[in-house]
Amino acid sequence: MMSDDQQNVVWRPYCQMKTAPRPLDIVSAQDFELTTADGRTLIDAMASWWSVCHGYGHPHVVEAVSKQLARMPHVMFGGITHEPAERLAARLAAMLSADLNHVFFADSGSVAVEVAMKMAVGYWQRRGQPRRQRFLSFTHAYHGDTTGAMSLCDPDRSMHADYGDAILTQFHCPLPIDEASETGCHELLSRHRDRIAAVFVEPLVQGAGGMRFHDAATVARIRRLCDEHDVLMIADEIATGFGRTGTMFAIDACHVVPDIICLGKALTAGTLTMAVCVARSTVFEAFWSDQAADALMHGPTFMANPLACAAANASLDLFELEPRVEQAREMESKLQSGLAAARNLPGVVDVRCRGAIGVIQVESLDDVHELRQRFVDAGVWLRPFGDCVYVTPPLNLPDGLLSQLCSTIVQVMSERSLPAAFAADGDGPIAILGSRR
Ligand SMILES: *Cc1c(COP(=O)(O)O)cnc(C)c1O
Repeated sequence: MMSDDQQNVVWRPYCQMKTAPRPLDIVSAQDFELTTADGRTLIDAMASWWSVCHGYGHPHVVEAVSKQLARMPHVMFGGITHEPAERLAARLAAMLSADLNHVFFADSGSVAVEVAMKMAVGYWQRRGQPRRQRFLSFTHAYHGDTTGAMSLCDPDRSMHADYGDAILTQFHCPLPIDEASETGCHELLSRHRDRIAAVFVEPLVQGAGGMRFHDAATVARIRRLCDEHDVLMIADEIATGFGRTGTMFAIDACHVVPDIICLGKALTAGTLTMAVCVARSTVFEAFWSDQAADALMHGPTFMANPLACAAANASLDLFELEPRVEQAREMESKLQSGLAAARNLPGVVDVRCRGAIGVIQVESLDDVHELRQRFVDAGVWLRPFGDCVYVTPPLNLPDGLLSQLCSTIVQVMSERSLPAAFAADGDGPIAILGSRR
């Protein structure tokens, strides 16, 4: 039976609604803080799922969106164009390396991933290899929640494990972090290259699949393997793009150019939903022909929404005007020292930081609801998941708030009461997001 105060009219994300505590009621967000309906303020350690890169309500972004709202909040993109979209596309193309010059607008990260899949399969069809309809992605990958994107997630550890044949079967292997794993990846590609359209990778940081890091050499190795086997490389930088890892894009630190890159999350500074899928000329040109049937048939209703484009343009202004990427890069050592004390706490497996990402990996998060409540009580909003307590704050979070955030996290983590089985040694089960135990 549902109680009267649980009408459940809102079906909530990633949530067992029967057992989860009520969500926090947030009434406003300004700069680096959220305000609850009962008047408390919380430091936002999540930047609303990595997206609010300049803090909430940045006046430059607010002004740009307000002006656009008064002029033209939306117009369809089929057969029509507008200055905010043209300008944004040109700026993104100029920021991205080499000939990543062809910007397709999507309305969310998952949709950008779907579009990238369609581009890759369509590319090979138009190049006379129509059997190339599958993808290779990596262990611990996360690429989104729509059905195509779900198929790219790690099938053993994803939140999507129980959909059976409703989800396409793809190829998966461990990231080629060393010679042995490179050989495995190489063999898989050799055996199935005639069926594989592209390799999908989250460069440097795998996000929702476990907050795991790998190095630039691994990403370069993937590029090399793709070249060797003549498959496309697709970089999913929906989470890592726009400074998060300490360079504007993670691929910049790897000196690698993918054939297609997906960007989202921080694209609009956390204001409106939009993502893009940017292709190199080789991919774009496969669709360029005298035949109408060769066109890329895709076009979301709210594609290139002018409000979202205005927000994204304003956000790019801020990246130009303010040392945002440097701030992200410098946050790494601050997080490192701020969270260092967590390393010695019982139940903590690892503490790792990269750019403006800090991760405390634990043996088990059986107390996730309780832990989240303790963070809220201590004035911090974060949302532990899987086996990680992680922070992805706004890139310009001031030092004072950052150290307050870190010390609160260490304090709360040190007060956890661990079940005896977990406190004893390091052999506890490691729960990855949604995995069945
Ligand atoms: C968040 C995310 C997605 C999905 O983006 P949505 O906007 O939530 O659909 C895809 N890939 C990665 C790496 C992400 O972090």
